[in-house]
Amino acid sequence: MGKKSTAMAFAMACNCAGETSKTIRQETNIPCGRCKPCLKIEAGNHPDIIRVKPSGPFIKIDQIRSLCQTIAMKPYEARRRVVIISDAQAMNPAASNALLKMLEEPPARTILILLATHTSDLLPTIVSRCQQLRFKPISSRKLESVLVREHGLAADDARIITTMAAGSLSRALRLHQTNWINRRNWLINEMETLSTASVNRLLAFGEQLSKNKKDLQDSLEVMTSWLRDLVVSRLNPERVVNQDLAPRIRQVSQQMSIDVLVEKIDTIQAAQNAIQAGTNLRLALEAMVLRLAKI
Ligand SMILES: [Zn+2]
Repeated sequence: MGKKSTAMAFAMACNCAGETSKTIRQETNIPCGRCKPCLKIEAGNHPDIIRVKPSGPFIKIDQIRSLCQTIAMKPYEARRRVVIISDAQAMNPAASNALLKMLEEPPARTILILLATHTSDLLPTIVSRCQQLRFKPISSRKLESVLVREHGLAADDARIITTMAAGSLSRALRLHQTNWINRRNWLINEMETLSTASVNRLLAFGEQLSKNKKDLQDSLEVMTSWLRDLVVSRLNPERVVNQDLAPRIRQVSQQMSIDVLVEKIDTIQAAQNAIQAGTNLRLALEAMVLRLAKI
């Protein structure tokens, strides 16, 4: 992993003006990290290093259109302008098609970098126009120790977060900064009480999910991982993701049939698909919650 940091280092290497280590730099292409362009890029205020990320669950066509307008003009000061599109899979089809035109005729002195977890989540026409670089996940042990040593997390918290971070340091840090463990516990409590909750309470839960758009994907993943753990706990307890909750998972899983659990997982997946396709967020989530409670 390290896709984002590598993209930023690449942008720096393309524009580094460091004099002191010029020979080394030419041989290794490592940016100096001290010159004006390097510092500006690192601080995130270089006008020609453009970051695009989802606003809410999607990268919208307006974002890609405004990107097209910006890069139709010459770069302000960069040797090479670099556009970094994070979570490129969050582009809806309209946004993807708008980007496609830009990929077909890239503007001068501009490099477009798309970051995504799976190429299968992108339009094949986009993938075929890009050069692919693969990144490997960081091992759990290493990630855990980096979180404890360099970011001051408690060992227990580091272990829980590592299980959800899928080998990505930036994801782990984001989970930590957004107080994810508390949110996970809240979601799991809600999931456990769904079948006995009143309709009002269910609708309120759906609404709460829809209000926090930024964390929605993570929230849905937590819910799925909890249900998955309830299935896995019966078949192969060592593979439970939320290991710190293993005794509770074991207990709850005995009260539900595997068929029911799988149906619940499918329900969340269907809601994710509907949201991705642009359905009204709140309606999709309310419907999902009501269905989860009924199954
Ligand atoms: Zn530099």
